Order: sequence, then C-alpha cells, then structure tokens
Amino acid sequence: MSKRNPRNLLIILGDQLDHESPIFENADPKRDIAWMAEVAEETEHVWCHQLRVAFFFSAMRHFAEELRAAGWEVRYRELPEDAGKDNYPSFEKLLTADLQELKPDGVRVVQPGDLRVEKQLLAACDSAKCGLSIMEDAHFYCGIEEFATFAEGRKELVMETFYRQMRRKHKVLMQGSKPAGGEWNFDKENRETFGKKGPSSLPAMPVYEPDAISNKVLKLVAKRFAKHPGSLEHFVLPVTRAHALEFLEDFLTHRLPLFGKYEDAMWGGEAFLYHSRISALLNVKLLNPRECVEMAVARYEEGRAPINSVEGFVRQILGWREFIRGVYWLKMPGYLELNALDAQGDVPDFFWDGKTDMACARDSMRHVIDHGYSHHIQRLMVLGQYAMLSGVHPRKFHEWHMAMYLDAVDWVSLPNTLGMSQYGDGGIVGTKPYCASGKYIQRMGNFCAGCKFDPGIAIGENACPFTALYWDFLDRHREKFTGNMRMGFQIKNLERKSDEELAEIRETAGRWRAK
Ligand code: SF4
Repeated sequence: MSKRNPRNLLIILGDQLDHESPIFENADPKRDIAWMAEVAEETEHVWCHQLRVAFFFSAMRHFAEELRAAGWEVRYRELPEDAGKDNYPSFEKLLTADLQELKPDGVRVVQPGDLRVEKQLLAACDSAKCGLSIMEDAHFYCGIEEFATFAEGRKELVMETFYRQMRRKHKVLMQGSKPAGGEWNFDKENRETFGKKGPSSLPAMPVYEPDAISNKVLKLVAKRFAKHPGSLEHFVLPVTRAHALEFLEDFLTHRLPLFGKYEDAMWGGEAFLYHSRISALLNVKLLNPRECVEMAVARYEEGRAPINSVEGFVRQILGWREFIRGVYWLKMPGYLELNALDAQGDVPDFFWDGKTDMACARDSMRHVIDHGYSHHIQRLMVLGQYAMLSGVHPRKFHEWHMAMYLDAVDWVSLPNTLGMSQYGDGGIVGTKPYCASGKYIQRMGNFCAGCKFDPGIAIGENACPFTALYWDFLDRHREKFTGNMRMGFQIKNLERKSDEELAEIRETAGRWRAK
C-alpha cells in the first residue's frame, strides 16, 4: 500500500470506467493515485441482482488492472467475502479513512451520476479536510448547465424539441439544415410485429466467457450475495473496453439493419431480438455515446442500415438518454419524491421471482432474472405498465429497477421509471401515461396465445389482468386524465362502459391490485 502523499486522489466510481475521462487530464501517474472501491451499501441500499453486482465489480477490477498496466498506482478496495453493511465501512467511511491516511493535496472526481454518492463524497472530503473538485462529465453530449438553459422559460420539456436541437448542434443525420431521410423522426416505422410465424434466424449475441478476474468476482457474489435475486448463470457480457467495442460492432453489423423495424416487437423466449443491449456498457462508460452514434450513422451513409433503424438508434442515445439525464439534474432532489397519481402499493412478489400465470410478465421476468435485462417494450409496456396500472409506488418501482437491471444507474433509472414508465412526475418527461389494455400486448407479440387469460376480457376469472387493470386505472384517474388531450380517445372509450360493467371491472382489478 502506498505511503506517499499524492498530489491528487482521483476517485473513479463504478459507472465511470472511461480511459478518456477528464479525470486524467493533467494527471500524472507519478504524483496522483487512482482510488476505486466496491462497497456493500451500493448493492444493499437496494436489493441488488447477483448479475448486476458481478458485472459492476468485474468491470471495475478489469479497469483497475488496465490502469495499473498503464503505470497508475490504484488503491482499490475489494469487498471481502464476509463483508456486510453492518461490519464493513460505508463508501463515505472507506474514503474518509483513506484520505486521512494518504493525505492528498486534493481530490478529483467526475460528476457522479447519483446525488446520494455526491453527498457522501462531499462529507468524506469535509471530514478529512480535503478540497474536492467535481469535474463536468464529458461523456455526455449535453452538459447539465446546457440543459438548464434549454429548459429555461419552457412550460413543457419536450424531448423531440431537445432532440432536434442536439441533431442540429452536433450535425448528426443532417443534410445541410434538413434531417437526413426527409424526416426528423421515423417512430412510425419502428412498430412492426413478427406476425404469426415469428422472427426467423435471429443473429446470436456474442458471448464472453468469464476470465480469472471475473471468476473470482463470481465466487465472491455466489457466496456473499447468495440470497440476492437473479442468477449468475448468464455472465456473458463484455467487461472490458476492447470487448465492449467488439460487442458494439457486432450489433451494428448483425442487428442494426432490422432494429428499427422491430424495435417495439416482442416474442416469447427471445430476450434480445434486434436490440443492441449496449445500455449497460454505455452507462458504465465502457462505450462512448459519440462513437456509437458516429458508427451507426456511418452504416446509414454506406447504405448498410436503413434510416428508420439508424434514426431510431440515434434518437435513443442523442435524444432520449441525454434528455433524461438533463431532467434528472434539473429536477433533483425533489423529483424522487414525486407521486402524481398517489400510488402507494408495493412491487408485486413476481417482480422478484417471476412466478406468475401471466405469460407476458413471466417471459419478461425470465429475461430480467437471467440477464438483468429486458428490452424496452417488455420493460415499459409489460412490467412497467403492470406496476403503474396496479398502483405501485413510483419510487418503489425505481428501487426495484435499480436492483434488477444491469444498466440502471440513478440518473437514467429515476426519470425513466418514476417519470416515463409510472407517470409519477405528472407529465414532466412524458405527456401521457404509457397504458394500454392486454390487446396491445397481444398485437405486439405471441404471449397471449399461450396464456390462461384472455386479453379481450376485463371481467371474471379469465380476464386478462392488464385489460381489467387498464380500465380500472383510467376510471380511478378519470378526472385527472380528462383534461389531457392525448388521453381523449381512451377516456371516450371508458365513458362507453356502463356503471355495472365498471363495477365488475373494479372487482376483478381489485383482486389483482391486492396481490
Ligand atoms: Fe399478458 Fe393478458 Fe396476454 Fe396473458 S392475456 S399474455 S396476461 S396480455
């Protein structure tokens, strides 16, 4: 362990694994020390999926090794096998102790993606009387201040307006002042289904078998986190920069061309379809959004991928991802407390173990348990929608999402779950709740054919829970949604239902809400 007093201690958090990070600007391996830590509380303040813990720890340990190979001294705090939140120091205490021992002249960190972590950093530096410099996160296209300027004076924050501004500013998919392909947004061409036959010959996902570092982490997680949800069986994601780039290339070549067409489609047993699955790699910064966007746009320009795919992909990264981060920093800390629909329920048991008779939810949960992943429609319109319709507290849904998805980091999870998925923010990130009856799920995939429920029925034993809960949800919030133009069609349909029918729907839905 180092005895010298470094000029700067460079704090590298688990979601900051970027060799090009601004933290290394003007840093000197001879005078500065990098500091990384695995902490029990990060895995236990929410009840973390085993694969999520393993992915973060393995990627962190690989990154630390790469830094050492590049000549850096790294003080890396590995979590001991027998450590728990009661017998192992918190992040703040670990850092305070190391600051007191190492006595650096200063501490540097790139803007953490979680306000809670930022507070702990400030407290540790305060206790150890060390100056903390928080650097802007250059990983993102849009800075926190820049987003605040965009938001200033606007009644509503509309993603599409922000997205177009980003496209113009960064000259992405632009032909002069006009959008490439003649439209800004090809969302309408992102909604095809696989029909009755289903997808044919889906490209296989690349698989990365665990190396010695990963195997050590897997052993730790299997022992230390044995009671946590999820499984370690499918530890096949890349955990290094080199493999992350390979993984991205594989998507661009084999799945991007059909990604746009089938972006919203679902199919039983198929977790990935044509999705990139790069969100976890982006969110720990093994991939950079600029390279993802530039490489995808190049495929369009070379005629190797159609505009509906490339624009859809760019919209997710340059539009939605940046917008969501802007909203997080603009609205926090108050955003966490929002609960526009006054939902007070707990996350249902099947969100942890996948045990349910609902075929669509069972399949979605299978992917979450196996891979810490489900693609965005299974996330939004199956699991997310079930939580919203049944009245789960939006913060509890966010905490569940943080626990179970590999790609969940506070800044990205909170506005996506509490806001977009649960409408807990009352319309800050989405102008209406994402809700539909079981008929939507039937149309977009093949689950209903093998399900004991009927998506066309809202009352009784055979009623599809989504359909019953959908009408019950609209009815419970009728007053609130009546003024929302975008809900007009749904409310009109609700008004066609008689009082008797609604009473029976309420009873059916009530049985599901009580579960
Ligand atoms: Fe899901 Fe309802 Fe279809 Fe069953 S019938 S798969 S619960 S939408």
